[in-house]
Amino acid sequence: MAQNFTINAQHLLEKVSGGQYDVDTTSYIASKNEDSFKAGFPDSLIIHYTAGRSGESSARHLAKDEVKASAHLVIDQSGKVYQVVPFNKKSWHAGRSSYNGRKYYNHFSIGIEVDNAGVLTQSGAEFVSWFGKRYKADEAVRAVHRNENTARYWHIYTEEQIAVCEEISALLVAHYGMKEILGHEEISPGRKSDPGPAFPLDKLRDDIFSRDRAIEESDLPEKGVISASKLNIRAMPQSGAEKVAKPIPKGREVSILEERDGWYRVSTRVEGWVSKDFVNTK
Ligand SMILES: [Zn+2]
Repeated sequence: MAQNFTINAQHLLEKVSGGQYDVDTTSYIASKNEDSFKAGFPDSLIIHYTAGRSGESSARHLAKDEVKASAHLVIDQSGKVYQVVPFNKKSWHAGRSSYNGRKYYNHFSIGIEVDNAGVLTQSGAEFVSWFGKRYKADEAVRAVHRNENTARYWHIYTEEQIAVCEEISALLVAHYGMKEILGHEEISPGRKSDPGPAFPLDKLRDDIFSRDRAIEESDLPEKGVISASKLNIRAMPQSGAEKVAKPIPKGREVSILEERDGWYRVSTRVEGWVSKDFVNTK
């Protein structure tokens, strides 16, 4: 196995955009993944969280021969990218999976792991991951997972890693003509919870695929500022729907994703519905 398979995002992006992505990345590769994609694939992108301690430790783990899992990329909290498997080879990130009648997404998809601890448990004023690392209150967000009914605490993602993930995702979608970006939680519901509600998955999809819909959605403002002192954010566009997180404070800027019946679906640290009357878009 290569000793140093760290690459920076820019290096990777140049390779992807220049079409050289599968030629000279061999020093970064775990030798266990030698199965190439069939023609026409990959055509999908799957987003994961590592549920690990650091991006580097997760990348090194996924590259081990004896570990029966892998992924193409790992993005750490600073936005640094580790390539574990080249894009023209299959990696073992999806496992048992199915969506829209299609099964075994490892055959069709690129897997991106975003370094994140996943579910956190409250412990006094702090939060603890499954592997025992402690996190401060501002590193946790209480939110309802799309496959669940009640709120739990989740480790927040950094702006840097979200930005790098979006940049790479957009390049991969454009390069391969991909039609879908899915969360592991959507292709393996019940078995997997990643990337979870702290990751702006719907916003990522909207940002990358919305270019086609830009004209019909041109009336929807892109950003808004919360004007109520504390604005409830809910799972559905209804006043009785479950709150997905703590209220959004006045003055917070949010991205507006969708409008329905007097409500906006917005993205801040989580995604959810807020009453449009309290979002200033001017
Ligand atoms: Zn996963």
